[in-house]
Amino acid sequence: MSNHDHNPESRRRFLRIAAGTAAAAAIAGVLPKAARSAGLPHLLPADPAAVALGYVENTAKANQAKYPNHKVSQDCSNCNFYKGAAGSAWGPCQLFPGKDVNAKGWCSAHAPKA
Ligand code: SF4
Repeated sequence: MSNHDHNPESRRRFLRIAAGTAAAAAIAGVLPKAARSAGLPHLLPADPAAVALGYVENTAKANQAKYPNHKVSQDCSNCNFYKGAAGSAWGPCQLFPGKDVNAKGWCSAHAPKA
């Protein structure tokens, strides 16, 4: 060991650097998580789960012959399963975990917001 290791100023500097490194690591660990929650991958209409429920990214494009109860006024933004922020173009849907659906989209599970 050298005298340098016992120098109080040197120790304080080391602790400041270590604290800064820990803070930077904590921020780096948090930011990607926040970025992920801000935007999930979009649900593709060709996804088998989407096909099964007749999901479309634009409610006007719903298959009216197959889903005669569909109304153009129904879309994901006014569906009870939609958890996107008001005014957002895309947001999570409880029926399609890990994916964002289009706020103007629709699927046959549409349920009016309670
Ligand atoms: S359940 Fe609702 S929010 Fe989810 S895709 Fe269907 S219409 Fe959109």
